[in-house]
Amino acid sequence: MKNRVIILGSTGSIGQAGLEVLGGLSSSCRVVGLAAQSRWEALAEQARYCRAGAVAIADAGCADDLQAATGPEVRVLSGPDALLELVDSVECDCVLAAVVGAAGLPAVLRAVELGRRVAVANKEVLVVAGSLIMPLARRSGAEILPVDSEHSAVFQALHAGDRGEVKRVCLTASGGPFRRWSAERIAEATLEEALSHPTWEMGPKITIDSATMMNKALEVIEARWLFGLEPDQIDVVVHPESIVHAWVEFADGSVVAQMGMPDMRTPIQYALTYPKRLPCPSKRLDLTALGRLHFERPDPDRFPALELGYEAARAGGVAGAVLNAANESAVELFRAGEIRFPEIVELSGQALAAHRPMADPGLNDLLAADRWARDEVARCTTC
Ligand code: NAD
Ligand code: MG
Repeated sequence: MKNRVIILGSTGSIGQAGLEVLGGLSSSCRVVGLAAQSRWEALAEQARYCRAGAVAIADAGCADDLQAATGPEVRVLSGPDALLELVDSVECDCVLAAVVGAAGLPAVLRAVELGRRVAVANKEVLVVAGSLIMPLARRSGAEILPVDSEHSAVFQALHAGDRGEVKRVCLTASGGPFRRWSAERIAEATLEEALSHPTWEMGPKITIDSATMMNKALEVIEARWLFGLEPDQIDVVVHPESIVHAWVEFADGSVVAQMGMPDMRTPIQYALTYPKRLPCPSKRLDLTALGRLHFERPDPDRFPALELGYEAARAGGVAGAVLNAANESAVELFRAGEIRFPEIVELSGQALAAHRPMADPGLNDLLAADRWARDEVARCTTC
């Protein structure tokens, strides 16, 4: 029987790459559901292309247009709970979580509850609720497989030893478009400059997160939950070529790294087909053509976001939810031209510093912390 896959966030950068990968796996996989925010034409086109029987659109105002475009044979779900309903009502083996932001959380939680394999690109859900998702997965038998390239790399390298033999892991960061910029120049960075990433082609929010290095801060928290590591066991090294995605250092001093071209199709496919490795259309690595690889320490003065990730990871509780929500709000304000580039991290840091810590939060506590942080960013911007 074919592996039945739902893609949440199918119209985005990861969603489209996922569909391409699944096109190449058509003898073993079948797309049964697709979901997106509001781009109903693209969603209808995708549903036609892969013959998905059900689609979900979060923007209820697009439902009629979507239904008219797909025809009556496709079931259309719409509104803020549509993604959750899709996961609930369509039988599947695997959910590719490729929504951007904490908005993806309810549907991911349901997929985990139902014991599905969840291929997680949507790192924000782990940052917000990793403390709930990982124990829930252990109870339900859900497999959580990382799609983020660095976490896929760690996951692969961990196969070289036992968990008790792991000393540290290291995630690499491209350094983003401002790696060589002075603090003064970064302070004046425009939206267009923040959106021009040197090595990866990605959606706008993660591209801006890469420019502030908040992306790596979120990835430290993501790694902490995925692999059950202490925050201080997670290092970050800037590696501008984005070829070595991560490595794991074992007790005996051996270091096992994973390499590949910066092409998300490889980690997406691995999360879908694990433990199998199948041919993939991704670009091939030729180290002799590259000649040299470079590694450097991140600069905490020009990129203070990274330390916020460690602070939130050490604090635990609702700190991840607060940092993530504050950053999401601040990135939106920057995209709307309402704040300057450095204020993204300043506002996120202020929210993290002002939040009320809480041990062992439940889902409602995490959602409340998320709302509080968004309000706090709005309050600090207007005062
Ligand atoms: P994107 O902006 O290109 O796509 C986001 C998708 O989510 C779209 O399909 C959009 O319709 C959907 N979406 C957004 N808000 C929604 C909502 N409220 N309800 C329902 N659907 C919603 O983003 P992307 O670059 O594909 O990134 C997706 C996730 O994967 C992010 O968490 C990102 O950090 C992570 N990620 C992306 C890359 C990459 O190369 N793009 C690499 C690693 C990790
Ligand atoms: Mg990454």
